[in-house]
Amino acid sequence: MRSTMQDVPLTIGAILRHGGEVHSDGEVVTCTADGTRSTGYGELVARVGQLANGLRRLGIDADQRVGTFCWNNTEHLEAYLAIPSMGAVLHTLNIRLFPEQVTYIVNHAEDQVVIVDASLVEPFAKLLPTFETVRHVLVAGPEAAGADLSSLQVDGVEVHLYEDVLAAEESAFDWPELDERDAAAMCYTSGTTGNPKGVVYSHRSAYLHSMAVALGINAGLTPHDRVLPVVPMFHANAWGLAYAAFMVGASLTMPDRWLQAEPLVRFIERSRPTVSGGVPTVWNDVLGHLDAHEEADVSSLRLVLCGGSAVPVSLQRALEERHGVHMIQAWGMTETSPVASTGVPPLGAEGEDAWHYRGTQGRLLPGVLGRIVGEDGTVQPRDGQAVGELEVRGSWVTGAYYKDDDPEKFRDGWLRTGDVGTLDPLGFITLTDRAKDVIKSGGEWISSVDLENALMAHPDVVEAAVVGIPDEKWQERPLASVVVRDGADVTAAQLREFLADSVASWQLPDAWAFIPEVPRTSVGKFDKKVLRKSFADGRLEVDYTRKA
Ligand code: ADP
Repeated sequence: MRSTMQDVPLTIGAILRHGGEVHSDGEVVTCTADGTRSTGYGELVARVGQLANGLRRLGIDADQRVGTFCWNNTEHLEAYLAIPSMGAVLHTLNIRLFPEQVTYIVNHAEDQVVIVDASLVEPFAKLLPTFETVRHVLVAGPEAAGADLSSLQVDGVEVHLYEDVLAAEESAFDWPELDERDAAAMCYTSGTTGNPKGVVYSHRSAYLHSMAVALGINAGLTPHDRVLPVVPMFHANAWGLAYAAFMVGASLTMPDRWLQAEPLVRFIERSRPTVSGGVPTVWNDVLGHLDAHEEADVSSLRLVLCGGSAVPVSLQRALEERHGVHMIQAWGMTETSPVASTGVPPLGAEGEDAWHYRGTQGRLLPGVLGRIVGEDGTVQPRDGQAVGELEVRGSWVTGAYYKDDDPEKFRDGWLRTGDVGTLDPLGFITLTDRAKDVIKSGGEWISSVDLENALMAHPDVVEAAVVGIPDEKWQERPLASVVVRDGADVTAAQLREFLADSVASWQLPDAWAFIPEVPRTSVGKFDKKVLRKSFADGRLEVDYTRKA
C-alpha cells in the first residue's frame, strides 16, 4: 500500500521560501571593524533573488559549481541560499587550506564563478591564475567598493563588484522545481594525506540535517534564538547552523573575520547570541579571556555546541562553573554533513555521571546509524567496552566521494570514519583516537584522547597532544607534548603524578616535551604527524620521567 501524503521536495529552495515567507522578522547581524551591520530576513530574501538573477546573467543556468571564498557574514548566507535554490551547486572553499589544495579543489569541482570577500582578495589573487574553469569573480563585503582589485586581472576572468551585480537585478526570481536528490552543495575534506576529497550534499540531506540541528537534542532552536556560528561556513557548513536557524526563524549573528577571543567576546556582548558553535581551541581562548576580564559579559549564551576534535570535560566545567556557559559536545565529519551525534546526557544521569556523558562524543542523532567494527572486520557488541572503528550510515552521510573512488572508506554501505572507540547501549560514542593516531603498547591500546583530556585538566596546562613513539620492549609508548601557561613552573614528574590519579599506571606517558604550541593542520586540528616527525628527527627536547 502506498501513502497518499503530498510529496513536497525537501530542498534548500523550500528552506528559502519558508524562511522568507514566515520568518521575515528574523535578522542577520554581521560583525564589522567598529560595530555591526544587520539585514532583516525579508530584505535578505530579496537580495538572494537578485544574486540568483545576477548569477544567471553570468551563465549559471544548471548545476554549475559556484565557489565561495568568504567569512561567516551576510553575503555568505545569501550565497548559501541563492546558489542551491537556483539549481547550481554551492562550493564552499576553505580559505585556510594550503594553496595547492585550493587549486586542486577548484579545478576538480570545475568552479565557474567564485564569490570572494574583499578582505581576502590578496590570498585569492595568488590562486586565481591556477584556476582552470573560473570565468567570473564577484568581490563582496562592505570594503569591496574601495578595494584595489588590480591583482585580480587574469586573462579570461571577469571581475565584478558583488553589490553592482545585485543592484542591476530584480529581486523576483523564477525558482526552479528541483529534485530533492540533486546536488545542493559540496565541501572537500582537508585530507592529511593525498588529495582532498569532495563530498556532495543533496538538497534532501541538507534539509534533513538542518532539521536535526534544530532539534532539542541538538541546538533546540526557536525564533527567540540568536545563533552565532563561530565554526566557519567554509568548512563543514558551519555545522548546519545557518540553514537550521533560517528555517526556524532564529536570527544569525555572524563573526566575519573577527574570530580571536577579544573581538569575539565583544561581538557577543553587542549581538547577544543565545546559541553558538565552534571548535575547542576557540572556546579555550575565550575561557582564558573571560578568566582575565571579569567585566566580560557572555550571559546571553544559553548553549555552546563544541566539536571538531575532542572537547575536554575540564573546558566544559570551567566555562559552566566559572562563567555560566553550558556546552554540549558534538561529533561529526565533512562526510556526515557534519553533525551525527550530540552529548546531551540521558535522563537520570546526574553529577559525575552526567559529566561522564558530556565527555563522550555524544549520542547518535535520529537518522544516523552507527556500529563498531573490530580489527578483524567483525561487528562488535554495542556494550561501551568493545573497541574498534566507528562506522556510520544515514540520510546525511555520504556514500562516496565526488569523482574519486576510495573503496577503503566504505564497507557494505557504511562510511568508515577512521575514528576508533566504543558505542554503548544508549548510542553514546566514546572515541579514543583517530585510527592513524592509535598508540599500541604491549598489545594494548592507550587512548591519546583520554591522556590529553586528563592533562588539560591540570591548571597549568593550556594544551596537550599525545602520540606514540617507538619502544623496543613495548613497541610503542606515549609521548606527551605539553603547552603550559605563561609563567607556570611545572615539571614532567609533577604532571605524571597528577595523571596517576585518573590514569592506569601502565598508560602514563614516560616521555615528555614542553613545546610553545601544538602544531596544527590547515583546519586547526592537532597535527600529530608533525609531532611524530619532530621526535623522529630529534628536534623535540624530551624529558624521560621513566624509561619504559
Ligand atoms: P578533516 O577530515 O577535513 O579534518 P573534518 O571536520 O571532517 O575535517 O574532521 C572530522 C574528524 O574530526 C572526525 O573524524 C574526528 O576524528 C574529529 N572529530 C570531530 N568531532 C570530534 C569530537 N567531538 N571528538 C573527537 N574527535 C572529533
